[in-house]
Amino acid sequence: MKLSKLFAKTSKTAPHDADTANAKYLIQGSFVHQEMAGVYSWLPLGLRVLNKVVNIIREEMNAIDGQEILMSALQPKENWETTGRWDNVDILFKLHSQTDKDYALGCSHEELVTPLVGSFIKSYKDLPVAVYQIQTKFRDELRAKSGVLRGREFGMKDLYSFHATQEDLEQYYQKVLQAYIRVFQRCGLDVKVAEASGGIFTKNVSHEFQVVTPAGEDLILACPNCTYAQNSEVATLKDGDKCPNCGGILSTVKGVEVGNIFDLGTKYSDAFKVAFTDENGERKIALMGCYGIGTTRLVGTVVEAMHDERGIMWPKSVAPFQVHIVNLNSKDADVQAQILETSASLYEDLKKEGIEVIWDDRDASPGEKLADADLLGMPLRVLVSEKTLKEDSVEWKQRTEKEARLVKLQDVMEEVQAFAKE
Ligand code: ATP
Ligand code: MG
Repeated sequence: MKLSKLFAKTSKTAPHDADTANAKYLIQGSFVHQEMAGVYSWLPLGLRVLNKVVNIIREEMNAIDGQEILMSALQPKENWETTGRWDNVDILFKLHSQTDKDYALGCSHEELVTPLVGSFIKSYKDLPVAVYQIQTKFRDELRAKSGVLRGREFGMKDLYSFHATQEDLEQYYQKVLQAYIRVFQRCGLDVKVAEASGGIFTKNVSHEFQVVTPAGEDLILACPNCTYAQNSEVATLKDGDKCPNCGGILSTVKGVEVGNIFDLGTKYSDAFKVAFTDENGERKIALMGCYGIGTTRLVGTVVEAMHDERGIMWPKSVAPFQVHIVNLNSKDADVQAQILETSASLYEDLKKEGIEVIWDDRDASPGEKLADADLLGMPLRVLVSEKTLKEDSVEWKQRTEKEARLVKLQDVMEEVQAFAKE
């Protein structure tokens, strides 16, 4: 893509009310556009990141036999009355129709998925089942804040599993837990897994997946060396204690909750009478688990975890483009023609090789182009200027590194290909 063609332009200043790095850089870089408090539209660069995150999640959910579906966002009031949640969930958006009917806008989908899957389950042979969707959710949050970390409309992947036995549920729960760790690690994040059930207080297990960053709302006691953590509210250990998993020294840090998994037991399957016939011909209620990842929050969390004072540092796995070509213009017409020709052929050659490349071909000052390259945060910047051409080279700089170096024109293609594959 050529930057000159991108309709959504970067801006020189950050929004005055940006309270976090993700709010600041995602808006300033035109990855997203804020429509109102807690509601964002996703623009070309931001959507490329979101789609990559979603694809990582999709691959990992398919790998644990999740079947992808897409449920309706508009939900009947009756289902929410069946579970007793119509009057008890304060963040539920309720809509009143001109036909006098009431609807809920989905903040979660237990009320839909339970009767839906339940209608196909007859015997133990139909179990286990795991279905998931990647969808927009609506929550009437009192305080939407921290950019895309807490929205009123946001993306979520929600997976629901149905089982004949507790043992089977627990086995699958562990599989999901491992798949979640893979998702977050593939997004370049250092994730901690905190048991969040309150242990002795409730009987059903639940885990939170927390990414350590100062923008987090949650306090967790985390191990610096492995994924072990405890939620500070219920912690049985304290600062300075040894990690029971690896012996590292635990400390209290702030985390963003990027995912959450629950053993639901029969809470919803009881309400919707999801029963099956077991091997002995007895009718039993199915057991359920539910597992969420905030997809849009995950994009914001990557920014929180990977940025500096100049902008974002996307990891390759979710970067909108791997390579950012910058040409610095020259007043000398011959030199300028050479700069443009070199940049254009590099751009075309990389595209031909299937490498995602954006070219800042704008007629803008060097200062502006370099500042935007840092703000937008592609992993590799390749710069073409009069100075580099004198050396038959381009300037090669990785976003996460301080130093730039020259790479000979004849070697650039090969080096970029190797970089993209790493
Ligand atoms: P939180 O504790 O942050 O309020 P939650 O425990 O209510 O979230 P779940 O209902 O388990 O969250 O939702 C699954 C995932 O969806 C969360 O782990 C989080 O990543 C994401 N999520 C929840 N609420 C929001 C929101 N308002 N904006 C963006 N993402 C959200
Ligand atoms: Mg939570």
